[in-house]
Amino acid sequence: MKNIFGILQYVKGYWRFAILNILFNLLSAVFGLFSIAMLFPFLQVLFSDDSKKLQDILLKGKPQFHLSPASIMENINYFLASDIQAHDSLHVLIGICLFIIVTIFLKNLFRYLGMFFIAPIRNGVVKDMRNNIFKKILVLPLSYYSDERKGDIMSRMTADVREIEWSVLSSLEMVFREPVTIFIYLLSMFLMSWQLTTLALVLLPIAGLVIGRIGKSLKKTSTEEKEKTGILMSIMDETLGGLRIVKAFNAEKNVKQKFEKINNDYTNLMVKAYRRVDLSSPLSEFMGITVFVIILYVGGKMVLGNHPAMSGAVFITYLALFSQLIAPAKSFTTAYYNIQKGLASTERVNKILNAEVAIQDPKSPKTLINFEKQIEYKNVSFAYREAEIGWVLNNINLKVEKGKTIALVGQSGSGKTTMADMLPRFYDPSQGEILIDGIGIKDITLADLRSLMGIVTQESILFNDTLFNNIAFGMENVTEAQVIEAAKIANAHEFISQMPQGYQTNIGDRGNKLSGGQRQRVSIARAVLKNPPILILDEATSALDTESERLVQDALNKLMKNRTSLVIAHRLSTIQHADEIIVMQKGEIIEQGTHTVLLAKNGAYRKLHDLQSFV
Ligand code: ADP
Ligand code: MG
Repeated sequence: MKNIFGILQYVKGYWRFAILNILFNLLSAVFGLFSIAMLFPFLQVLFSDDSKKLQDILLKGKPQFHLSPASIMENINYFLASDIQAHDSLHVLIGICLFIIVTIFLKNLFRYLGMFFIAPIRNGVVKDMRNNIFKKILVLPLSYYSDERKGDIMSRMTADVREIEWSVLSSLEMVFREPVTIFIYLLSMFLMSWQLTTLALVLLPIAGLVIGRIGKSLKKTSTEEKEKTGILMSIMDETLGGLRIVKAFNAEKNVKQKFEKINNDYTNLMVKAYRRVDLSSPLSEFMGITVFVIILYVGGKMVLGNHPAMSGAVFITYLALFSQLIAPAKSFTTAYYNIQKGLASTERVNKILNAEVAIQDPKSPKTLINFEKQIEYKNVSFAYREAEIGWVLNNINLKVEKGKTIALVGQSGSGKTTMADMLPRFYDPSQGEILIDGIGIKDITLADLRSLMGIVTQESILFNDTLFNNIAFGMENVTEAQVIEAAKIANAHEFISQMPQGYQTNIGDRGNKLSGGQRQRVSIARAVLKNPPILILDEATSALDTESERLVQDALNKLMKNRTSLVIAHRLSTIQHADEIIVMQKGEIIEQGTHTVLLAKNGAYRKLHDLQSFV
């Protein structure tokens, strides 16, 4: 039960709709009751051919009216008898039938109105949840994603949220509608025969217990099923992204086998889950009917005999009411199963929503609007995972003065990218700190910090949108002239203006309609437009051929002018003119100085340099 209220928490913002829903459900239940209760006069008329009985009733005169079942029945009987006397039985029957139609119509009208107000709650809850997850995805640090599958996160956002939608819906119906219906029906049944109703109340929970047993294992199956969905999505996502390589390496068979295996596991789980859910309906029907038959026997005994405790018409009406209890009781069990399934999804979604945001804004941030003096790495050490043996960065000390270009070189895996990632706080140092103008970067807001920086990486990150929007990405009120100006500096204007729709051309997923060099120049134009004082270039030209490298390098040189730059370069020729070159090895700075000084030193830099000169 506690878990059901957990889901209901999401409904908080929609209480107005909830109240309307309850109101209409109440009305619907009342009219439903009326329509069934009409069975009683109907039966009375059918069996009233005994004219002596009619005369008896009429002779007694109009009975007094109290709010008690006996009095109500006496009054109905008197009313019917006088009506039959005045017209005939058929006339009365027509009247009753019309009355039933009207009450049934109203019952269903109110039922619909009840549903009408559930719809915005149900969809609103799902919308809120999706928004919350997306918001969370944006604030979670990059480190979160190296440990998670992308497909799994996507499946949490889609499949799990949909699952919750269903379980929320059924729990809402259960909580708002069924108790109202059950209460009203039970109350009128009590008034008709408290003995029978007490018996039913003892028997029904026993049936409920049996049904509840199966629900337990359902949640576990559901969790596994959702995990498998996540893996399936991951494989699909990776395959779509890497189709070129899959085909080139003839890996279709392997990928297919991998997919089919998970898909089979998934199917087996689903078959198990379906069978268990499907059991709920026959089981609850069997239990329900068994209880019904017991009541039938006990009630029948009360009607038979020389001194019947109940009339046949009353008993049949009672049974009709009782049969109406079975539907809500059944939806109660279905809801119970659904909620068990939904809870597995709730847990998966909550795992994202409650994930710790390791990199956050400081509580009382200091202001740093302009970058004036220098960036300083102070005793910085870092490991991606706590338990890891050995640091990825080990006790780095480095000062970068404003306006200078600092180059990071060294073997692949020596920690250059990691070191650059610390500056915009993609990762925080495990030890030590980074200061800008003497202020720790943890003491300023992420927005302030990142507004100081422009980043161009080896893989250009572009979005499926127009060239204009890709260049103006993340900025507001950008004019066309500004975008063109930036594109010109980035050597991108020429190829863009030759495109069919110029700046309004869509560049496809991740920009796949452009060549590598073009993509990179668009990324550079984006950095130019942002006009940040600090630049981070991580192997920005490494993936390019010599011809486009020349264009991109030229664009980069223009971009770096009058800025402070941290340049990671694979090809040493591109950073010869840097103010300072830092040579890294296994997470440590092993040499540091200008090109000429380092060459003269005959050390690691010289070795790297000589290796490349042969190429
Ligand atoms: P470089 O840019 O100099 O080639 P990196 O900074 O990318 O080197 O990597 C330094 C080391 O950190 C490598 O040994 C690499 O395996 C490891 N590493 C990089 N990224 C991650 C990550 N997200 N999770 C765990 N280890 C990582
Ligand atoms: Mg790198």
